Amino acid sequence: MTITRRTILQGAGASLALAGLGARSAWASTELNFGNAKLQTLSDGHLSLPADFIFGPMPKDKLAPILETYKIPEGALTPECNLTLLRDGERVILFDTGAGSTFQPSAGKLTEALDAAEIAPEDVTHVVFTHAHPDHIWGVLDDFDDPFFYEAEHMIGKAEWDYWYDPATVDSIDSSRTAFAVGAKRRLEALEDAITFFDDGEEVLPGIMAHGTYGHTPGHMAFELRSGSESVMVVGDAIGNHHVAFARPDWNSGSDQDQPMAAATRVKLLDQIAHDQMRMVGFHLPGGGLGRVERDGDTYRFVSEGA
Ligand SMILES: [Zn+2]
Repeated sequence: MTITRRTILQGAGASLALAGLGARSAWASTELNFGNAKLQTLSDGHLSLPADFIFGPMPKDKLAPILETYKIPEGALTPECNLTLLRDGERVILFDTGAGSTFQPSAGKLTEALDAAEIAPEDVTHVVFTHAHPDHIWGVLDDFDDPFFYEAEHMIGKAEWDYWYDPATVDSIDSSRTAFAVGAKRRLEALEDAITFFDDGEEVLPGIMAHGTYGHTPGHMAFELRSGSESVMVVGDAIGNHHVAFARPDWNSGSDQDQPMAAATRVKLLDQIAHDQMRMVGFHLPGGGLGRVERDGDTYRFVSEGA
């Protein structure tokens, strides 16, 4: 298993950097070769969230030293958004589609990331969703409301589909998330004639096992990718940040829809990844999201392997 870190510089930025003028990098990409497959993370940009979106339900006195350790500033959080692309020689599989052009101005940069990686939308053979939140699914349609990856088979967990497709969800979901429900339903309706469902424990595609990791959303899925004896867990938002989610995975997080269920899922998933010494990709984890997990008693640490 080998990891390549590279920073893709583009256009004027590249020549400025070459001239030593310190242009910032455009898109960092981390690649991992394992078995016959190649995994790559692609940046969709980042989100801007009020800190309480995650920390709201947490005990402030115990939270403070964790935020200090991880140097998390007060106020807005700006988590990365990292999509996973897997190429196994036959298939080009994209996990999630990013936020698209209408969610937040700092996100929805996948088109540029694909360009930089020299991947055309029609090269993608399969799109597999972890869940139907805006930053994961709104990018599935182009500005004309047609599927952006128009040659791809689209796949989603059945429970996740059922929840967001249900017309009652927009009324039953917390009012702060009404836009999530409206936005998801519109995208799912556009895909409904051409979507494939899977369930917990199913092999979605050869070497890709779905794990029901419920709580963040009702039907959230993680994916265990296997090639030979090696494996990587694509966790989506089941492990949603590199600080409190690792330091205190058992705490309720404001970002999860069913907070106790999501906490139980996080504890179990981290235990499995650490025990099996797998690599993982987290959608909102730093440095491209690829790394390993170190255990220290009941707490964990994310060890980034990205750029
Ligand atoms: Zn997310």
